[in-house]
Amino acid sequence: MKNLDQLTRENIKALKPYSSARNEFTGEASIYLDANENPFNAPFNRYPDPMQVELKQRISEIKEINAEHIFLGNGSDEAIDLLFRAFCEPKVDNVVSISPSYGMYQVCADINDTAVRQVRLNDDFSLDAEQVLAACDENSKLIFLCSPNNPSGNLLDGEEIEKILARFQGIVVIDEAYIDFCPEASWVADLNSFPNLVILQTFSKAWGMAGIRLGMAFASTEIISIFNKIKYPYNLNMLTQQLALELLSDTENMLGWVEILNSEKDKMIRELKTLTKVEIIYPSDANFLLVKMEKARATYEQLVEGGIIVRDRSKVELCGDCLRITIGSPEENQKLIDSLIKLNK
Ligand SMILES: *Cc1c(COP(=O)(O)O)cnc(C)c1O
Repeated sequence: MKNLDQLTRENIKALKPYSSARNEFTGEASIYLDANENPFNAPFNRYPDPMQVELKQRISEIKEINAEHIFLGNGSDEAIDLLFRAFCEPKVDNVVSISPSYGMYQVCADINDTAVRQVRLNDDFSLDAEQVLAACDENSKLIFLCSPNNPSGNLLDGEEIEKILARFQGIVVIDEAYIDFCPEASWVADLNSFPNLVILQTFSKAWGMAGIRLGMAFASTEIISIFNKIKYPYNLNMLTQQLALELLSDTENMLGWVEILNSEKDKMIRELKTLTKVEIIYPSDANFLLVKMEKARATYEQLVEGGIIVRDRSKVELCGDCLRITIGSPEENQKLIDSLIKLNK
């Protein structure tokens, strides 16, 4: 890769970050009169820890990553936006993403006035590293890979990812939002081998915490320092930090949920296979299934009438006549299957 200085925007390198009261004094004191806080209404009157030290410590234990390699954000979407703001000069630089994939890369690119070069996956949603690398030029700063990929559900081939990591001059982002459903495939253990690797993970999916907005980026200490320099000073509120610490006190719940959802997914595949209108059930390493079926849009609308909402992906590249179905509770899944059986007649 180029060195990080060559990749970082000049204005970000020159930036003098905001220094909050909680940055300038970090020890313990008995009287805090430094932040214009209200002395009443404890504990909500105090600003939260800007660096989320305690929460990062806990996440560091769970993920077996040194806390210096962790950035926490208001969802992993915050990290996606920061990547653009740090590295992509508007109207000049570009990023490369696979297609189809997660929609936020394009939205954040548009907000930051940065072009996205989309490289279509193969028909089976597999990745061709040569095509991705061929789409890059001097001004390509980021490559977004999503594995398991949304909306297709499959893991991207490790050897193809490694080719991209070895040869791309910019930063490779691997979005592992669904990795807890197939943890053995994570790239986290390879962070030290690839200084240009940024891994995104989230508590929104397997951990069941979408409502508290907590996402993670793992990367070199240099990249993490840039995120810290440009983030909002208090980007994670007190309630999120406290609740996350509570919910992360044991990991057993999450592991149990993953086991249930993975076995529910297998059951859903078996049931869907019996329906004549179902044409393809794409292999999934995540907590959802992409399903190609006759008259997908009509089926979607009929399900909505019965109060069941799935995601219509039929207008998305390579996803003609496809619905994306999230794996729910056993009862919810059974209701979906019952409805589909009725509609199939
Ligand atoms: C759901 C999802 C996210 C989650 O983002 P949060 O902001 O952490 O909720 C990120 N990437 C992909 C591919 C997703 O599907």
